[in-house]
Amino acid sequence: MRNLLPQRRKTREVAVGPWIIGGEHPIRVQSMTSTDTADIEATVDQIQALWNAGCEIVRLTVDTPKAARALPEIRKRCAGIPLVADIHYNHRLALESAPYVDKIRINPGNIGGMENVRAVVERANEFGLPIRIGVNNGSLERDIALKYGAHVRDHILTPPEEGYPPEALVESALRNVEMLESLHFYRIIISVKSSNVPLMVQAYRQLSAACDYPLHLGVTEAGTKDSSNIKSSIGIGALLLEGIGDTLRVSIAARSTPDKIEEVRTGFRILQALGLRSYGVEVVACPTCGREDQGFDTTRIAREIEQRTAHITAPVKVSVMGCYVNGPGEAAEADLGVVASGKTARIYREGRLILEQVPFGEVTSKMIELIENFAAEKRG
Ligand code: SF4
Repeated sequence: MRNLLPQRRKTREVAVGPWIIGGEHPIRVQSMTSTDTADIEATVDQIQALWNAGCEIVRLTVDTPKAARALPEIRKRCAGIPLVADIHYNHRLALESAPYVDKIRINPGNIGGMENVRAVVERANEFGLPIRIGVNNGSLERDIALKYGAHVRDHILTPPEEGYPPEALVESALRNVEMLESLHFYRIIISVKSSNVPLMVQAYRQLSAACDYPLHLGVTEAGTKDSSNIKSSIGIGALLLEGIGDTLRVSIAARSTPDKIEEVRTGFRILQALGLRSYGVEVVACPTCGREDQGFDTTRIAREIEQRTAHITAPVKVSVMGCYVNGPGEAAEADLGVVASGKTARIYREGRLILEQVPFGEVTSKMIELIENFAAEKRG
């Protein structure tokens, strides 16, 4: 695909396990487990399922000492998979997690003062770990929240009715950055997520202009699958179209492993739609019209191919065209293309005709066989 995107924003390079985040390195797709981390079996199963679906960094909550104690075994059984410990408030859990993960997500501003921040930084240095500062509405420091319109009702800090402005998220993120920088710590990645898409987009824009640390993009609390896919595609996509963003996570409100895998697929699909990464089987199908050859069901074939090849992560571009009018042209741009041609179909590989007179009833199974072989060749 011709690259029509603006120059990607230049960011510092920060290592997370085997990956470099930032600079000109690929935009990595992350997800987060929904299991109780202390349940080692369930957590390991989900981490491995995410990894097999192409997820490149897996975050897991470390919310209790029991969860922290599970990490050595999880690390052992998930060797080679970049893991992130997600920690709130309790800096001791970060100290315990550090030997077994590749990154720590923690907000220095809410772990009880500079002594605790210093301890986390020393531990991160000991293991060469980066820290992600993950700001969202709920993590705003009290004074910043009050400055940007929050009020106290029955001793509870209540956000302004119109919501916080993007400046609040950015100010909080930069304050957390300053705390780390004051200890000469620079392996920093930042996120300023919100469930409000325009707010999140503005916050990342402002943050991007204010510092050059790599940015982790996401729309938080984006809802269940359909809602999240739309919100994430708009929010993350808008930023990527401006060259902003170095890693991303699509958040779907769901516990099941298949839904978690959907986070990964959507993340890659967003990148794929912008020509930034390739992932899995991408089916280009014509919208069909009165010209569609009788007996050839473009929609059903495309859908079945999508469903039955969803497990493939190697990039394969497939086209399904309902008649000969635009068929060969589309097929020439695909790895594998099928074109209805009268009463039978023709199949192309990388623009070359490889099969003729394929009965319509055999098209789906033939295409799936060819796609699987193509993907296996790509994996080498
Ligand atoms: S490829 Fe043929 S059937 Fe499909 S939309 Fe175009 S003209 Fe119609």
